[in-house]
Amino acid sequence: MSLKDNFDYDPNSLDFDDALNFILKNIPMLNQKDAFDLEAPDSLNFVLANNVLSPINVPGFDNSAMDGYGFNSEGSKHETFKIIGKSFAGTPFNGNIAKDECIRIMTGAKIPPSCDCVIMQEKVEILNENLTKPKISIQKDLNIRKTGEDIKEGATALTKGTQINPKNLGYLCSLGIPKVNVYRKLKVSFFSTGDELVELGNTLSDGQIYDSNRYTIKSYLENLNCEIFDLGNIKDDKEYLKKIVIESSKESDIIITSGGVSVGEADFIKQILNEVGETLFWKIAMKPGRPLAFGKINNSIFFGLPGNPVAVMITLEKIVSTAIRLMQGITENKLIKNFNVRCKSFLKKTPGRVDFQRGVLKKDSNGELFVESTGAQGSNMLSSMVKANCLIVLPKDSGNIEIDDFVNVELI
Ligand code: AMP
Ligand code: MG
Repeated sequence: MSLKDNFDYDPNSLDFDDALNFILKNIPMLNQKDAFDLEAPDSLNFVLANNVLSPINVPGFDNSAMDGYGFNSEGSKHETFKIIGKSFAGTPFNGNIAKDECIRIMTGAKIPPSCDCVIMQEKVEILNENLTKPKISIQKDLNIRKTGEDIKEGATALTKGTQINPKNLGYLCSLGIPKVNVYRKLKVSFFSTGDELVELGNTLSDGQIYDSNRYTIKSYLENLNCEIFDLGNIKDDKEYLKKIVIESSKESDIIITSGGVSVGEADFIKQILNEVGETLFWKIAMKPGRPLAFGKINNSIFFGLPGNPVAVMITLEKIVSTAIRLMQGITENKLIKNFNVRCKSFLKKTPGRVDFQRGVLKKDSNGELFVESTGAQGSNMLSSMVKANCLIVLPKDSGNIEIDDFVNVELI
């Protein structure tokens, strides 16, 4: 065995970051816009195709931040104040408040022009039903929400590329905006390949396994708000696979396959991509997930994912999702929560590829974070993925990790 056999460098594979950047540079952006009704049932996750300006001031009028009493601060020297009326949210008080007068006022109620101070009711002594004595001093602007302090009319409320989530949906509604322009959904076709694959609900015969990747891909795409076309599980039949790929390239922005992308005798995906489109690369120096064909067929982007289920999850998470978010027009980067922590397991690692090992991030009795391996790391072992709450990211050139070494982990 030569020294080289202890390494995992492959001159034909791209570094992970280079591969991801290459993909992000080579994908087209969606530019078709649809007017979208925010009251529609599935209004979340769409991406704004324009900046949204506020048509109104919010708040639209000065109003009270408290249930309490409203005063005119010019009367701050007075001791007692006559209660001359009430202002409720939705039913304002329209009179004038003299220096020795006050009104009862509720949260959200409009502040009358002669009022500029609200004192919460707990800080006001009620001498009788017509007379109050504040326990704190009357100060201008106390407990008043000012017109436009949340957003001013004409100001940018949300920028193009923002994804609609429960927070900004509520915000748009507070501005009275019923419709926005969004990008249309990405159309994504996907299928799995492999003569050994069996659909759910059937019994396994000798040498067969259940198809899991197609369901993993499907749920990722649903989470990413894509319009999906599930083409099922397709046998390792090159001519038939080719026909399906050509057909789906007419309708899809993206085609995703799983399996058949390596160098085995039943691995046709890369050959097909070369024959009907172009392969831009097909190996990434990552583990799991080294064989990953990226290319184009007509106007479709093609991702040929590996067959091993853990590799499918990691390439979906680290590569395909990033590309889809960009194609959808999303401008905010997904925040990756990562930590540098002590590793309490020995990790086997061969230099040559960035390795995404499955880990469990925990806290010790002092509240300090540490990570443990989920155990065996085979890219076929979904149980390790299920146990994991993080990926332990080991850089390309790193070797084994000894117990108590520091490692970088990303929450998943
Ligand atoms: P392949 O790349 O087609 O050689 O597949 C690599 C490994 O992944 C083999 O052990 C396959 O049986 C397995 N595999 C391929 N496709 C799937 C799938 N859809 N679901 C679960 N396992 C799969
Ligand atoms: Mg196969």
